[in-house]
Amino acid sequence: MAFLGDEERHSLDLLRPDGPIRDARHQLEHLLAAAHEVLILDPSLDDASPAAAPIREWAATHDPGDDAEVMRAEPERPVSPRGLRQSDGVSLRSMLLPGRSPLNPSAVSISMDSELQRDRQRRQPSHADDDGYLAKAAASHLFSIDRKDLTRLRTPTGIKSPRSHDRWPVVGGLVAGGKRTPTIDPRPFTPHATGTEVSDSRHGHSAGAGQDVPLWSPSRLHEWLKCPRMGWLSNGLRAEEDELQAEDLDPRIHGELLHNVHHDLICQTLGFDIGTERPFGADGSVSSVAQSGRSENELMRIALESLDSRAPWLDRTDAVSTHRLMILTGMNREEWNRWLAEPGPVPPSGRVGTIVRAESTVRHTAPVCLEWSMADFNQEGIEISIPTELTGGEELPAIRLRGYIDRVDILPMDEVANEWLDPDGDESIAPLRVHGSGWRPRRLVAIRDLKTSESKAAKDRHHDGLLDELQLALYARAWEIAHPGDLVVAAGISLFSHHTEHMLELSSEYSASHDNLLLGTRTDITASLHRFCDEPPSPSSDHFRAWLAQRLAVAMRTAAGAAAGRVHPTPSSGVCGYCPARNVCEVRMEAGF
Ligand code: SF4
Repeated sequence: MAFLGDEERHSLDLLRPDGPIRDARHQLEHLLAAAHEVLILDPSLDDASPAAAPIREWAATHDPGDDAEVMRAEPERPVSPRGLRQSDGVSLRSMLLPGRSPLNPSAVSISMDSELQRDRQRRQPSHADDDGYLAKAAASHLFSIDRKDLTRLRTPTGIKSPRSHDRWPVVGGLVAGGKRTPTIDPRPFTPHATGTEVSDSRHGHSAGAGQDVPLWSPSRLHEWLKCPRMGWLSNGLRAEEDELQAEDLDPRIHGELLHNVHHDLICQTLGFDIGTERPFGADGSVSSVAQSGRSENELMRIALESLDSRAPWLDRTDAVSTHRLMILTGMNREEWNRWLAEPGPVPPSGRVGTIVRAESTVRHTAPVCLEWSMADFNQEGIEISIPTELTGGEELPAIRLRGYIDRVDILPMDEVANEWLDPDGDESIAPLRVHGSGWRPRRLVAIRDLKTSESKAAKDRHHDGLLDELQLALYARAWEIAHPGDLVVAAGISLFSHHTEHMLELSSEYSASHDNLLLGTRTDITASLHRFCDEPPSPSSDHFRAWLAQRLAVAMRTAAGAAAGRVHPTPSSGVCGYCPARNVCEVRMEAGF
């Protein structure tokens, strides 16, 4: 049990950790004293049933030279049905005829699936062509990729970045000096069949697995994107493992609690409810928490009151609650009780304090909605589509999407954060490619997705959100469709961790012309990566909108793959380690997590 020392374990009458082995030694002494002559069988030579610890201890003391008679562990010829089957298997692996035909001939090769998969993975193309990237034809031979390949940004000297390259999209490869070039997400993969029908039928090349998903969520799409077999097993067949109950607070509850404290802080300061959109833009209302005129200590009081109402279990005196209380508020039990007796403004501290402080880093963005539900716009989900000129000519069926956007901010139009709405702007849905269209936005929008992590840096989590996951792009487009006239020019991850940081990937044009505004930690990681697929090298269009179009195309290709029943595995160490179906997947990657 976490947080308990020996003294507490005894006082609570919890067993000593070595209790079972002490009992076993005791029982062995009984057995040894039960007859004049006692035979001890030491099964150490049988790998399948190692000797119990007391037997090993006894043997080490009484037979230190290991001189005891060795008995044959196996009969000369198998006698049991299991032994017979095992000997048939050994014969098959040695290319000899088995004594009897297998019960299910299709199952004979199951034990080779993993080796076959590893062999195919080793043969994946990895070396770049002369232009620094994998040859175009090589992409169809890929079927797994590492997260770090997707989030690699730096291009080795002498090689053009993907946005400036002659062809787009490109997949990175190994170049001279052992360096790798960046990659534009090539997923979902469509690996070729091996030609071995019985094995192929187990690996996504048989008919009948097509999925009819009328309503997608971004997280479900992401599971299919990471590995179609995982998406199919966990979402299509619900073949997930039971969750183990943790002794500490479930990370999801911890995350949800911090989200709610963040939401309450904003809603109470700016005067609106979670899930509703506040009218903002022309009436001169307060734009942000940092502009509300309240001191940080006062804001901390609001946040602590929210915490107290949302986590009454913090009042318990058990070790988990006391530990969490310290993490969340920076207060010990006594200080917390004192504050509860007299709730007042206090200096920000703990995780909650970092949420309060981080609001000053987004002073010039105006939150207008928290936990916005797409169902509020359309109960049947928001339809998202992409024109064929932005998919390289590929016809991709539209999808319907549901979900909640954590936080939507309006960005100022002008450089001094006074203008938030252009009344002369267009009232139609923003085109994906705004550049050259003549379309003019009424409002500029930033989409933020809130995450909680104890281990990841905000920068890494933000890169994952942009280049590996799909939800930022899907949320951005869903908001635009539901709000004609709005243009999303920024999106990013806000990470609640030891420090809270609001990261934001921005359209470079907007960022450069509004560089004195506090919008969060700015990034431009898509600036060297993305362009629209029908554009020439180094175009003048907006890289942020090109990123949006590329992520939407990936999402729609993933959904189309699910509809077509492509449920092949794409094992990689970063994904298999967290796969809820890994125990039933014989091709999982075992290392690297
Ligand atoms: S274990 Fe790996 S390969 Fe198998 S389903 Fe899960 S993610 Fe896919």
